[in-house]
Amino acid sequence: MDAAARRNTVPAERAASFYTFVGAVITVAVLVSAVPISHLPQDLPTLPAAFWVMAALAVLCDYRPFAPPGRRQSSAVFPSICFTFAILLAWGLGPAILVQAAAVVVSSMRLHHAVWRSVFNVAQYALALGAAEAMLLAFGETAFAEGVAPSWIDVVAAAAAAGAWFVVKYGTVTVAVRLHSGGNLWDTFRLGVAFESVSIGALLLLAPILVGGPASLSVALIPLMLVPLFAVYRMSRLSSEQEHLARLDPLTGLANRKALLAEVQEQATMHAARAAAGAPDQHFALLLLDLDRFKHVNDALGHAVGDQLLIEVSGRLVQTVGRTDVVARLGGDEFAILTPRLTDAGGARTLADRIVATLAEPVALDGLPLDVAGSIGIALYPEHGEDFATLMRHADVAMYDAKHRRDTVVVYAPESDHNTPERLSLLGDLRRALDPEVAAPDAGEITMYYQPQIEIQTGAVVGVEALLRWRHPKRGMVDPEELIKVAEQSAVMRLLTRRVVDDVVEQLAKWQAAGVCLRAAVNVSIRDLHTLEIVDQIRERLTRFAVSPAQLQLEITEGALMADPRRVLATLSELAKLGVAVALDDFGTGYSSMQHLRRLPLTEVKVDRSFVLGMATDADDHAIVRTVIDLAGALGLRVVAEGVEDERTWRLLRSVGCHVAQGWFYARPMPADELAEWLGRYRPLNPSS
Ligand code: C2E
Ligand code: MG
Ligand code: MG
Repeated sequence: MDAAARRNTVPAERAASFYTFVGAVITVAVLVSAVPISHLPQDLPTLPAAFWVMAALAVLCDYRPFAPPGRRQSSAVFPSICFTFAILLAWGLGPAILVQAAAVVVSSMRLHHAVWRSVFNVAQYALALGAAEAMLLAFGETAFAEGVAPSWIDVVAAAAAAGAWFVVKYGTVTVAVRLHSGGNLWDTFRLGVAFESVSIGALLLLAPILVGGPASLSVALIPLMLVPLFAVYRMSRLSSEQEHLARLDPLTGLANRKALLAEVQEQATMHAARAAAGAPDQHFALLLLDLDRFKHVNDALGHAVGDQLLIEVSGRLVQTVGRTDVVARLGGDEFAILTPRLTDAGGARTLADRIVATLAEPVALDGLPLDVAGSIGIALYPEHGEDFATLMRHADVAMYDAKHRRDTVVVYAPESDHNTPERLSLLGDLRRALDPEVAAPDAGEITMYYQPQIEIQTGAVVGVEALLRWRHPKRGMVDPEELIKVAEQSAVMRLLTRRVVDDVVEQLAKWQAAGVCLRAAVNVSIRDLHTLEIVDQIRERLTRFAVSPAQLQLEITEGALMADPRRVLATLSELAKLGVAVALDDFGTGYSSMQHLRRLPLTEVKVDRSFVLGMATDADDHAIVRTVIDLAGALGLRVVAEGVEDERTWRLLRSVGCHVAQGWFYARPMPADELAEWLGRYRPLNPSS
């Protein structure tokens, strides 16, 4: 954000009170300094060389002021105040104000301050010096003014004067910042008080040493003061640099999550204050960008190339966004953009489209042109949230929505958010039910049901599909589809899948011990495949229970997989290497690209039950199922039909060459022990009948 531009202009709705305050400070400062300044023509020629050396050093020191890049620009360190405070102690208010004004003019030019701002600064210093002078007068004539060795009382007087100086200067700055940028007075006060009281205190309290002893009469000693001044300057600089670094992403130099949070909170406060003042509706937007193929690049080309890609992307983002927008990297390949002033969602969408367009240009890395693309979710203040956490969550929902719809930009819509309060509480219960540490009987028990899969030609039971069941103590049986929708948008999904994989592998080992050799299919969500964690977990679990990888299969829904096939490619390839097959579930409901179907390491497609259920009565459904079977056959994939409820459908499937069937016609999903009994009873239908 262009801080200089922002500091030199005042939002219209607060301009009146701000400028009234500025005017009042300047007026009082003129009144305070009029008499001392009027004496200057007589006083100046009588002042000793020490004064002129200090005056010169004051102006010289402020020629390179240090203005930290943090929020409170008043935190700038101006070493001149040490000399002007010393001048005040030794030679009075008039000369001190004069030298301070000269130093402010020089530093203002260096910092590109507007004229009104420089005048206001001079006025604040004049008031601070005036308050210090009043305090000194209250103590009576001090040794500093008389040029004799100071007593304890003189030192106390100087410290009290420094205190008065700080209270007035810091107080006027705090009120000015509050009137300028809005926000809470106490928060503004707290923001810099620790830092500034130390740095300003150190500078002011060096002054009595400078003018306090007979040594001060030696002009040659004064420049030695530059050494401690430099130390204070370095200290301020280091502490503020550290603070600044804590808000940066070390790889890209962009703002990090902490800095973004501060910016969003500041914007929210400003907008709320504006709305309260009756300003016309204004919004700001949080855009969340997630790169599509980053994981793939990282895995295939290494982390160094991945880092280069992130740096390139951040450079493009910075070039694309507006001057007042904030770009942040939240970690991994996730970026956020805060765009502060908008009249509606259209503005945010336009920015998002511009970002998509700049990312469409391939990035040359290691001599390879790489395509980067991303999905962007947008949440607007105040309609989609009034605080950082809500806006982030909603932008995240919109981003996932974008991925699922294979759209690049999606503005948050409550309809596609599955996180209603009721669902969030369900999620909380699920988390407790999954936590092995907490015995939570009130959260119900999670179990797996198993549904047999029958090879149509032979009638043999070739496998089972593991299906989640959760009986909630209050809500009863929870619909798994509902549950997955909610869990998928949160980190609970990983816990859930981990639990399912653990249970199913353990069950396979039990069946194996009982002499039953089955293959079990486990449903996973797209989120589970975004990292390689699941591969490690499966490998570890299979080894521990001595179960062959060929006995486990994963199912991923077509819609989810096709939303971002490249992102999961690395995980699918690792699974294939491990020997765990992957099936494309609910086939026919998504939009598979033939290219992806051919390239992804899949072994099976499961025709969605909506087509299978209708194929006996609906010619279109029948045609779809037949086409899917032909297509899968051409690609060398096995076809499983799910939702086979009756014999007629079973016969139709057999006639069109479907390999495997699963459905109520054979058996409903059932607990593991019931399945063992069922297998004992099961007699295949006569295939030729
Ligand atoms: P899915 O993977 O397509 O599972 C098949 C669904 O069809 C199951 O619903 C099953 O009970 C149902 N079904 C089986 N035969 C018939 C039939 O003949 N007629 C009809 N009308 N339905 C039949 P369920 O168990 O309610 O699961 C719904 C969805 O929830 C699953 O669809 C799957 O996408 C998801 N799901 C279930 N368990 C898990 C899990 O452990 N992890 C994940 N990620 N998703 C799961
Ligand atoms: Mg399934
Ligand atoms: Mg299915």
